[in-house]
Amino acid sequence: MSRSETLFANAQKHIPGGVNSPVRAFKSVGGTPLFFKHAEGAYVVDEDDKRYVDYVGSWGPMILGHGHPQVLDAVRQQLEHGLSYGAPTALETEMADLVCKLVPSMEMVRMVNSGTEATMSAIRLARGCTGRDNIIKFEGCYHGHSDSLLVKAGSGALTQGVPSSAGVPANFARHTLTLPYNDLASVEKTLAAVGKEVACIIVEPVAGNMNCVPPAPGFLQGLRQLCNQHGVILIFDEVMTGFRVALGGAQAHYGVTPDLSTFGKIIGGGMPVGCFGGKREIMSCIAPLGPVYQAGTLSGNPLAMAAGLATLGLISRPGFHQELADYTTRMLQGLQERADAAGIPFVSTQAGGMFGLYFSGADSIVTFADVMASDAERFKRFFHLMLDGGVYLAPSAYEAGFTSIAHGDTELAITLDAAERAFAALKR
Ligand code: PLP
Repeated sequence: MSRSETLFANAQKHIPGGVNSPVRAFKSVGGTPLFFKHAEGAYVVDEDDKRYVDYVGSWGPMILGHGHPQVLDAVRQQLEHGLSYGAPTALETEMADLVCKLVPSMEMVRMVNSGTEATMSAIRLARGCTGRDNIIKFEGCYHGHSDSLLVKAGSGALTQGVPSSAGVPANFARHTLTLPYNDLASVEKTLAAVGKEVACIIVEPVAGNMNCVPPAPGFLQGLRQLCNQHGVILIFDEVMTGFRVALGGAQAHYGVTPDLSTFGKIIGGGMPVGCFGGKREIMSCIAPLGPVYQAGTLSGNPLAMAAGLATLGLISRPGFHQELADYTTRMLQGLQERADAAGIPFVSTQAGGMFGLYFSGADSIVTFADVMASDAERFKRFFHLMLDGGVYLAPSAYEAGFTSIAHGDTELAITLDAAERAFAALKR
């Protein structure tokens, strides 16, 4: 029995399913989840001392690779001054100023502790500030696990085959209108009918929780126009895409300006952080300035701010995002060549340093239906074959993959070598 198997068996005694977040349980790919004990650069190391090239990156935050010395130093320095004060710090202002500089649509920012808190608070703010109760989200998009947003959600909810969680009152769910991603006509029709009751549209500008589906040309621009027309607040959930697909996020990459944005993952450099923000006029509705309540004991935590500031500083160097995207493109091209050579129907998607892999004969992946039509069984086998070859992919056919700046030629060679063997084995 491997140590991961022993640890997983022990974990299940007191942790539901042995994990603190469902996708970690390997339900969608089968087998035992790996327990990690160390991570460095582009690698994670499991409890049995096996090293893997990591394409999960803690689900996005580790854009610099694991354990970047300058990030660790920043945390160590702050550590000497205490863990939390529950009072304002200069670090929080530094963070707010930096976020507003990097993402021009952000005029004011509120720090929180997770992506879930960020989106939940942004939705409350949109409702509080418009006086409207309904929201629009898109099928397969995941915005964290708050009640209003767990309707036809992606990520773990999709992986587990539970499109809407038990425990969400039907009375809440009815305020969440769910439309197909990349289908502007359905948004137009819905807003024409009930636009006056809709507080906001929340969207992943690149969907990353039903695998990776970039926006169709004109989709985000169309949402912007329709929101203007109907007085609806446009929220970009950039928890995954923020500071990744470009320094200024997907809004910079695609040139569309939302009213509010939510961030997480990279902004904490691996610590539990999120934030939401946007137009001053809207953000002024938040307590203590306005009537929409939102708070947090650990919000703006100094250790988390130190890790986040160091990370944002390092990724701001010119050329960073181009290098990240170039590695990702080379890796995907290499996979495609090897899949083609083996005669395996395969297609990939990419937005900067995030990507999707599909066992599919489709020319492109544009809709949720395209994602669901791909061969998830084949992905399962591929996932385990890649693990055997020393490559750790997201343990689900419905999650995006992430690269880091620590991924280079050596990691590319390991990845493509493993893939060549995996595609050959899939053929057998
Ligand atoms: N929004 C998006 C787009 C996400 O990808 C996620 C998590 O993966 C969340 C929100 C929720 O963030 P967290 O897991 O930090 O609560």
